[in-house]
Amino acid sequence: MNIHEYQAKELLADFGVGIPAGHAALTVEEAVEAAKKLPGPLYVVKAQIHAGGRGKGKFKELGPDAKGGVRLAKSIDEVRADAQDMLGNTLVTVQTGDEGKQVNRLYVTDGVDIAEEYYLALLVDRASGQVAMVVSTEGGMDIEDVAHSTPEKITTITIDPAQGFMPHHGRAVAFALKLDGDLNKQAQKLAKQLYEAFMALDGEMLEINPLVETKDGKLLVLDTKMSFDGNALYRHPKVEELRDETEEDPAEVEASKHDLAYIKLDGNIGCMVNGAGLAMATMDIIKLNGAFPANFLDVGGGATTEKVTAAFKIILSDPAVEGILVNIFGGIMKCDIIADGIVAAAKEVNLSVPLVVRLEGTNVEKGKEILENSGLPIVSGDNLGDAAEKIVAQVKKAA
Ligand code: GDP
Ligand code: MG
Repeated sequence: MNIHEYQAKELLADFGVGIPAGHAALTVEEAVEAAKKLPGPLYVVKAQIHAGGRGKGKFKELGPDAKGGVRLAKSIDEVRADAQDMLGNTLVTVQTGDEGKQVNRLYVTDGVDIAEEYYLALLVDRASGQVAMVVSTEGGMDIEDVAHSTPEKITTITIDPAQGFMPHHGRAVAFALKLDGDLNKQAQKLAKQLYEAFMALDGEMLEINPLVETKDGKLLVLDTKMSFDGNALYRHPKVEELRDETEEDPAEVEASKHDLAYIKLDGNIGCMVNGAGLAMATMDIIKLNGAFPANFLDVGGGATTEKVTAAFKIILSDPAVEGILVNIFGGIMKCDIIADGIVAAAKEVNLSVPLVVRLEGTNVEKGKEILENSGLPIVSGDNLGDAAEKIVAQVKKAA
């Protein structure tokens, strides 16, 4: 789960991390009030969307010469004008895709006099089973570009969670950032605070870009993105509350309400499968047959009629879907019960696209019989290969 910049900064501030003062705003008036609470005379008005690259982004509704989603304002009037420009408009950045994201919230912060920009990120390194702290002197730019053109400017420090953050980790971070004296000490302290926040909140990723050194010698987190391990969210009700569903794909939000693992993809064949491994194999075999899956969807072990119906509705809500392949192994659930569920669901949603079903497992013959006698144009697949061939052929025929 992702959260907004201002939310991440507020969480980090609880761990002692230095951030510029700022306030979130939902309206132009709130933005003006937020600015009035800050010392000035320099303010920053920042669009809050779940995507980076806002500074260089462009608003769809404003001309190509208009400023982006992170603006320096030199007076309260400028803050007002910037807020008017941004709120309700659609910001397109390198991370939003062409459709962009509507700006519904702003963050008005104290303008910082920047001396240097650095990069610092924490991630779960699955290969080593440790936490990786990625540090670079090249802040404020795309880290992928830095990794590509000057990889030697990126240092990765791994921290064993069983051992925890040690003083040498902090020294390594400060050394990689080439900091001396008091700044060196600040970097060591900051690295420890960030690690502690990351672990305590079950973070998945925490990226600070840029981390800045101010002209008066302070290290501040100027921009941050944070995401959390969805499986650990139940331990953090305070973090869970920060979820902004308007930033997420509506179909994925709906799926999570039914406890379905759904991810939208670019193809035209909807998939409904039980088990993540089987879902992956189903997507592969669709591709092998020359088509592309429209989604990943795992209905889980106990696929009830309600769940199957919800899954059909979610798949069909995607206008790109031209056919559906159901691939279910009846282990915990028997095939005849699943077939009943599929028939009931197909009737309820008024299925309008070809449907191929491959069932395997307990009571498979009974299950196939139910599909056949349903009076619906459901095609049975004899095995996974056969089912994939059939759905691809049906979709091509319909096109
Ligand atoms: P992003 O474009 O979404 O990554 O948003 P950032 O928060 O990183 O802002 C983009 C850039 O705006 C930063 O890299 C800075 O160069 C600049 N910027 C942001 N806040 C300030 C500030 O307080 N003072 C100054 N001088 N520049 C800022
Ligand atoms: Mg940034």
